[in-house]
Amino acid sequence: MTKQPHILLIYTGGTIGMIKDVYTGSLKAFDFDSLLIKIPELHLLDCSIETISFEEPIDSSNMQPKYWADIAIIIGENYLKFDGFVVLHGSDTMSYTASALSFMLENLAKPVILTGSQLPIGDLRTDAKENLITSIQMASLNIEGLPVIREVGLYFEYKLYRGNRTTKLNAEHFEAFESFNYPNLAESGVHLNVNLESLWKPKANKELILRTAMDTNIGVLKLFPGISRPICEAVLTSNLIKGLIIETYGAGNATTEPWFLELIENAIRKGLHVVNVTQCAGGSVNMGQYETSSQLRLLGVISGRDITTEAAIAKLMYLLGENIEQKDFKTIFETSLRGEMS
Ligand code: ASP
Repeated sequence: MTKQPHILLIYTGGTIGMIKDVYTGSLKAFDFDSLLIKIPELHLLDCSIETISFEEPIDSSNMQPKYWADIAIIIGENYLKFDGFVVLHGSDTMSYTASALSFMLENLAKPVILTGSQLPIGDLRTDAKENLITSIQMASLNIEGLPVIREVGLYFEYKLYRGNRTTKLNAEHFEAFESFNYPNLAESGVHLNVNLESLWKPKANKELILRTAMDTNIGVLKLFPGISRPICEAVLTSNLIKGLIIETYGAGNATTEPWFLELIENAIRKGLHVVNVTQCAGGSVNMGQYETSSQLRLLGVISGRDITTEAAIAKLMYLLGENIEQKDFKTIFETSLRGEMS
């Protein structure tokens, strides 16, 4: 008989950890150490659970790379002791954290599942219990003691996604996330159906390496019809940033105004890493498909292909933090490192 999986629940903050005072109706933070008492269903799970909480839980709108590093370090320090990790997190920036953790946890070969909820755990109609319970079950899945999921996933409303492929789409619906460019890793119905084909297969027997040095000197410029030259100039000539994501139209298209292309050319010549990510929710950048993107390719703009903006931000911070050589940067960015791009 294989031993019961041992799961570490890491509470960072967010609605899931709130409880409504039945008398006043106000939301207050849940004492996470009493989780197993408050949710007795957790005892029915076929695994053992330990919990750890941020000393001061945060609303995920206050998320920062230093907290990503804290989560990665907790996972690193407990990596051998536990079979899987469930990170409870506010939904607002969960896709950013999932993306960042996927880069920070190099050679990850155990499940790290982020989840949260739209309604607090103490609410009558809460989605928190299902999200929490199924995330723990997903993290416990194993075949003869070997974990089935060996990557950073995000579980929400009956679906497990690859974390670095997700985007928060809805501020209200229980189904708040979507992964437009990658199939779901698993779905929960009467049974848990895992899509084995789409799971990440890490290289065998490699030690977990924490890559927590994120360089935040980056920017995102979203194009729109009428975007002004001074705004583009301010961003593209700034000495404060080392990497810039340009959110372009459709398949990676942008205005062909000479002043715009000249700004990009000069910025790249001065060493700025410029990444092309589409502002469409699904689909891919394909520079050269239209005349309005051919020039960007010739100028040396990096193709983000079908990466999300969330994952592109995390990848840019990660690669800049790793001090990748200038000449290799484009090739490495355009390589899928954790399944974040097709
Ligand atoms: N503002 C909250 C947060 O992201 C919303 C949530 O918990 O889902 O922390």
